[in-house]
Parts: sequence; C-alpha cells; structure tokens
Amino acid sequence: MAVVKCPTCRTDVVWTSASPCRPFCSERCKNLDLGAWASERYTIVADDDPNQDATSTDGNDTR
Ligand SMILES: [Zn+2]
Repeated sequence: MAVVKCPTCRTDVVWTSASPCRPFCSERCKNLDLGAWASERYTIVADDDPNQDATSTDGNDTR
C-alpha cells in the first residue's frame, strides 16, 4: 500500500481511490496548495514594482 505525504501539511495519505484529493489529505489542503502556488505567480508578476526593488541603483542606501 503506497503512502505519500500531503504537500501542504505533511500528513500521511494512503494512495488509493479512497483518497480523492491525493496527494493531498483533503480538499482543504489541495486548495491551500493551489492558493500558495497562485500567490507565487502573482509575486513574480509584481516583481516589476519599483517599491519592491531592494537592489535599486538609487544611491539612497544607508548600509
Ligand atoms: Zn494536508
């Protein structure tokens, strides 16, 4: 019997038809993971925001 770990909460999930959300342990974890993935995509898209640029060539850095 194959067992995988839920990518979201690391719970053991038995890989059978009894686990329709596998590799996730539940619909909730499945949605959470998809949400996190979507957020990462948005972060990449928002990377052009000049307010987020920590490596700016602006000479106003006080380090
Ligand atoms: Zn889970």
